[in-house]
This record gives sequence, C-alpha cells and structure tokens, in this order.
Amino acid sequence: MSSIPGGRLTTEQMLAELDLCEQLANGTLRITTRQGLQLHGVLKSNLKQSIREINRIKMTTFAACGDVNRNVMACPAPFRNNPAHQQMQQVAQQLAVHFRPRTTAYFDIWLRDEDGNETSAAEFTPVEEPIYGTHYLPRKFKMAVALPEDNCVDVYTQDLGLLAIVDEGQIIGFNLIAGGGMGRTPSAEKTFPAVGQKLAFVPSDQLIEVCEAVVAVQRDFGNRVDRKRARLKYLIFDWGMPKFRATVEEYLGRTLEDPHPADVTGVDDHMGWHEQGDGRLFLGINVENGRIKDEGNLRLKSGLRAILQRFQPEIRLTALQSIILCDIDPSDRPELESMMREYGIQAAEDLTLARRYSIACPAFPTCGLSITEAERALPAIIDELDVELAKLGLQNTKLAIHMTGCPNGCARPYTPDIGLVGRAVGKYTMFLGGNPEGTRLAFTFRDMVPAEEIVGVLTPLLQAWKSESAAEESFGDFCCRKGQETLEQLIA
Ligand code: SF4
Repeated sequence: MSSIPGGRLTTEQMLAELDLCEQLANGTLRITTRQGLQLHGVLKSNLKQSIREINRIKMTTFAACGDVNRNVMACPAPFRNNPAHQQMQQVAQQLAVHFRPRTTAYFDIWLRDEDGNETSAAEFTPVEEPIYGTHYLPRKFKMAVALPEDNCVDVYTQDLGLLAIVDEGQIIGFNLIAGGGMGRTPSAEKTFPAVGQKLAFVPSDQLIEVCEAVVAVQRDFGNRVDRKRARLKYLIFDWGMPKFRATVEEYLGRTLEDPHPADVTGVDDHMGWHEQGDGRLFLGINVENGRIKDEGNLRLKSGLRAILQRFQPEIRLTALQSIILCDIDPSDRPELESMMREYGIQAAEDLTLARRYSIACPAFPTCGLSITEAERALPAIIDELDVELAKLGLQNTKLAIHMTGCPNGCARPYTPDIGLVGRAVGKYTMFLGGNPEGTRLAFTFRDMVPAEEIVGVLTPLLQAWKSESAAEESFGDFCCRKGQETLEQLIA
C-alpha cells in the first residue's frame, strides 16, 4: 500500500503504479478509502522489488501501516484560485512529514542493499523517535483535513479530524475533532464505532504543536494492555472530553481555545468537469470501489493509461476511491471525452449519485480478516438499487452506501445513509440513519440480512422517504428522524 498524503501524485507515478500492478501484482490497481493505492496479489518473492519500485518513483509504503500516524487525508479538489484548498494540501504534507517515524529499519530492510548485499537485522541502528518513543503508539492513528462545506474525507471518523476555518479566503485555524474511529468487534461489547468530538480551535501556526500533544497523550495513556481498546476513541470515552482536553493542555503548557462554531455542512465527491479557477478544468472519474482494471466493455485501466499518457495531468485520489485529473486545457475536453467513450468509461453525470457515493473495502479474496464479500458484491446491489431509484425518480439524489466485509469498518460504514457490514458469509448487518456528510453514527437496523435481500428491505423505506420528504431531507436524516421501530412498521 502506498501512502499518499492528500491523495496527490504525478502522472508518472500513477503510470508507474499501473505498470507495477501488471508486472508484480494481479493486474489491477486499487484506490483505497484513505486516498492511497494498493497492489493486490504480490507474491512474497516479489515483495521487496515492489517496495523498491514504489520508492524509486518517489512514493513509499513507509508508515502506511503500523502503530503510527497513517496516510494523512485532505480534500483533493484542485481549486487553484482558492488558497484554502492549497493550504489543506500543504497541511496534509506537513503533518505527514512531521509524524513520519524516524526509524531507519524500513530502509535497512527493504531498500539499502541496492547493490545486492543482504542487510541483516544486526546492522539495524536504533534511532531516537522524538514523538513515538521506544514503543510507538498503542495502535494506528488517523488524521484528515476538510472544509466545513465539504467533508469529503470524513473528519468525524478520524482519530484526529481537522476542520479548516476560513476567513477572507485564508485558513486561519482548525477545529480539532478527536476520537473518531470505525472498528468494532461484535462479540466484544467493549468495542464500538465512534464519531469524533470537538476538542478545540487551534490557530494555524500552532497546529503541529497541538496535534503532537494529542498524539503524545494517546501515546502515554492509550490502552497498551488490550489491543481491542487501544484506539484514541476509547481513551476519550473512558476519560471524557474534559479530562482529555485538560491533559492535552497540560502537555502543551497552556489552555486551548474553545471550538469555533463552524461545523460540517456538506460533502462533494468532486466527480465530473469543474473549472479549477485558473482557466483550466479538472475532471473526476468514478472508479467503482476503487478497482482499476479492464473488464468487459469497461477498460478503465487501459483508458486511464491512454488518457494519462496523452494529457499528463496531475492526479488526485479521493476518499470515495475515485480519481481526479487536474489541469486539463478546455480545448482538450472533446478529445478526452471521446477517449472515455472509446474505453467504455462513463461520465459522472451518467451514474446515479448512489453509485458515485458508494464505497467498499476489498474483503474477499485479499483481506485476511474478511468474513464475506464487499467490493465484489456491492456493484450488483447498486445495479438492483439503481432500478428502484429510477422508478422513484431518485437517481439524482445523494445516497451514500458504504460496505465492508467485516466489522473493522475500513470503508467507514457506520456514518453514511446506509452501512452494510459483513456478519457471516453472504450476510450483513444493515445500518441506517447516518448521512453523506458523515457527522452522525447510524443505528443498527437489521442483522444478518442476506445480500440478495438488501434492496428488498430498502425499497419500501425509499418509497416512504420519497413520498414523505426526499425533496427536503436526506435518506439518512429521514431514517434518523423515524427511528428503527417506525421504519420496521413501514416495511411491514
Ligand atoms: Fe477492513 Fe474488514 Fe474490509 Fe478487511 S474485510 S478491508 S479488515 S473492513
């Protein structure tokens, strides 16, 4: 997995990853829900070469996993005339660099023996980790940066979400939202998904220092005995936000400001054509569940390769597992659209918003923790759902559906309108009542729903939503307002 802060990479890097997936993996490349890239099916004997090739193109897998700060997400929209968008990307880069581990072990193990010499573990020289200390963090740590009007990176699901506060076009600081996290174990009641809580407003020039204090508190007080309860969300749950905030202040040596009143108000998938503010355009291309491959009439991998070679755009990856091509000259638009048609790549406006806002984790056959299908099951469910949405005239209405093959929640299934979480082979727990903006936890609506019954369960609810309020409120808001009991009556 390549760690890509803000989901930003060059055409050359993307083309090289496409080459790698053919040379060393299973011929497909996958965009993750954290704006990274995954190669699947890499043989153990090819692992070292894969990592070296990724580093050779100035990308890395370093800190893409482990008990450290993971890939830092940021809104990828390349509005060149909007300083706030550029500042968010800069902040993601700064955080990624600041919280990168200092250990040389990765380089010693994977990269150092370029001349063919083996490097033994005995040669590893420990280095001081100023942030992580000798034992690193109790568990992984996730950060993301967004704007209130566009929470496309789901700040409330992160250990530390950064909501940028903008004044006169410039980011003046951030509302820090702490203690979000998706994973849970159904058999362990002590585990649960959580949305983050507002911690403080932090001026831009103090951001790194305060983030470091938050990470240090988690490092020193996070649960190191029970790994299932090691994430920051459990520390904040056990302590309560006042104690957590007071401890962060103690580490900082000063008090924090109360959160700014601004909050998340919207979300955008950034698909389709947009003016980017400098006379050029950007184009968001939906990649269903992030999987870049050629299959049937949809030759996405070949098409993207041809388009990248022809137009050389900067690339941005989205948190909804899709791709943005930046800096397109408006005069190139007809040719680019023609190439998309040639390779069977659908324009965003030809897809329902349910498909555009749906994401899934890989699950079977590549994730060892999966209980059932997700990525391979969701397209057929969306096909069926699209038919029902078309009957109701709701194909252009936003509907976020996130599916995972197990409760660990890598596709953030506990906050959208509809969450589908693998529970047994072919069966899912259905969550309803979240929202596309990702500001609220959904509730468990039904357990052990067979995949083939999912749309049948949803259809009467969508009909009730349509007849009652689809014009004014989202499906998730409708479900939240009605509550589980009333929704069950609607189905009955
Ligand atoms: Fe994550 Fe579970 Fe999906 Fe694996 S199956 S990717 S652990 S949510």
